[in-house]
Parts: sequence; C-alpha cells; structure tokens
Amino acid sequence: MADSRTLTGSRDDLVVDASRCLRMRFSESSCRPCADICPHGAVTLDGGLAIETELCRGCLLCTAVCPVGALEHGSDFSACLAQLSRVPEPILGCIRTKEYSNSTMTCLGGLSDEHLLALCHSLPGELALNLTACSECPNSAMIPHLHQRLAALSEAEVLEGGCRIVIAESEADIHFSDESVDRRGFFKSLRSSLFQSATVILSGSKEQTDRRSEYAVKRVPVRRELLNKIVGRLSPELGRLVLGLYNRRIVFTDNCTTCQGCVAICPTGALQTESQDEQPRFDPQRCTDCGLCVDFCIDGAVRLDSSGPCRATKPA
Ligand code: SF4
Ligand code: SF4
Repeated sequence: MADSRTLTGSRDDLVVDASRCLRMRFSESSCRPCADICPHGAVTLDGGLAIETELCRGCLLCTAVCPVGALEHGSDFSACLAQLSRVPEPILGCIRTKEYSNSTMTCLGGLSDEHLLALCHSLPGELALNLTACSECPNSAMIPHLHQRLAALSEAEVLEGGCRIVIAESEADIHFSDESVDRRGFFKSLRSSLFQSATVILSGSKEQTDRRSEYAVKRVPVRRELLNKIVGRLSPELGRLVLGLYNRRIVFTDNCTTCQGCVAICPTGALQTESQDEQPRFDPQRCTDCGLCVDFCIDGAVRLDSSGPCRATKPA
C-alpha cells in the first residue's frame, strides 16, 4: 500500500506570511480560527504564528479561514479554472484523485467561500468536487467543512444562476471524460465568454502576487481579490447580494480622536488617512472583517457593521 503521507498535500503547499497574522501585529489579538480548524494540531500561535511541519498534512483548511492572508495556498487557481472550463461537466479533484479529475488542487479543503463562488460563476453546467478518496485520507476532516460552506452559500442564494456544484463522495457520482481527446468540445468552450472570463478571473498582476512580508505593507488577501473580481462579473442584483454577505461598513463614534491608529494597524489598506484632522476614509472592497481596527482602538471609537442589504448571515 502506498504511504498515505505521500498522497496528501504537504506543508510546501501552504504560503505562510507570519507578519500578516493579527497576533503578530497586535499582541492582544485573540484571533485563532486557523488553530481551531486545523485537524492535525499543526498551527501554533503562542509566541507567534508557526506551522509544525511534522504535523501539517496540507489540508489547507486554515487558508480558507484566515481573514488577512497570513496563510494562503500556493496553487494556481486561474490555471485550474481554465482547465475546468474546457469540459462541459468538469471534475475537480485532489492529489489522490487526479486520474479521474479534469483539474486538481492539493486538497479541496482549501476551497473557501470565495473559491466556490468563483467556480460557480465561471463555469457552465455542473461541476463535481471529487471527494471519492477523502474518507480514507488523513485529511478527511475537510469533508464537513466543504459541505457546510456550500450549504451556507446556497442558503444565502448567492449560487443562483451559476453552475451546479455537487460533492461526489462515491465513484458512481463520477463521470470522467478527459478533455484532451475532445478537441471539438474544447474549442466550443474556448469560444464561449464564460471560458474567456474564467481564464482572467485570477490572473493577478505582479503587484498583487508580490508577497512582501514587511509589517508596514498593506495587501488585500488573495481570497478578497478573488471575491472582488467575481462580483464585477455578476448581475447588479446578485453582486449586491454577495457584497451584502462580505462587505462591512465602518462607523466611527463620537469617541474618535482622529489619531489615525486604525489606519496604521489595518493590514489591508481598507482605512486610509484623508487628513490628520478627519476620520479615516474606508474602502469596503479592501476590508476583510478582521476586526483589528476595532480591537486596537483604545477609545472604542470603531465599529464594524454589515453593509446590507443582504438578509442572510455571512456563511461560516
Ligand atoms: S487566522 Fe490568520 S490572522 Fe488569525 S491567528 Fe491565524 S494566521 Fe493569524
Ligand atoms: S478596516 Fe478594520 S476590519 Fe477591515 S481590514 Fe482593516 S483592520 Fe480589518
């Protein structure tokens, strides 16, 4: 039998930028979703963010919950999307199921809300997530998380109008065809606007992919960049619904002294100084709801609200 360790992702699939971690930026931050979700106990936060390389199995679950991109995965999602676009009913698999998948990620645990929205609104027809090998995998803890994310997005009605995403857990659910032998289908897909938009959705600029690690650098996490790109391609109504889930509105109370401390601490550049005597300007498209500005303001002058108009709650 093959060594199961070789059939999971590895620590190398994780891109760790500890300087972005909220706990590294503010000693009183209690942020810990990455440690809470890790099924292998590989994330340590005492003394700063660190990954125990001996324990990490590359499930990428932590990358789907870190609000500031301190943990991201290094896979080329735009290439993955382009490969899936070449077949009418594609299958997305992992390192264990690559023979029966049209494209792969190291582990599908890394499929965040934003990735699922991108897949849904970039591909036509139906997409199967190939989980047929997951129950035997050390990373099987990702299965309920993926179900939960999909269910929450569906309940929030933000998957309407896109491709149907099904979770395939048995071989009977998988109908694999290799697009490389179907040139006619490929070129038909190539002509479609869906394919064209899918190929550009994550083709970030050099600046966007530059993972500088200085504390002063403001950067929008890859997942938020992806969300902003998807929204730009949706109908106005659906775009508003999606933004209602993820966008925040900032409120400065009368306690605000315009000290600009929140501007300095915000890791994404969502808060910017207009003038030293005025409350900061806020860009909701850069905000990831990390809450650092709220925690940091000693005057308690910052509050984050849902931007509305969505009636749903943000998916977990
Ligand atoms: S979720 Fe991100 S910001 Fe929060 S503790 Fe983990 S690495 Fe740091
Ligand atoms: S504005 Fe506040 S909640 Fe939004 S990203 Fe900046 S620090 Fe985080």
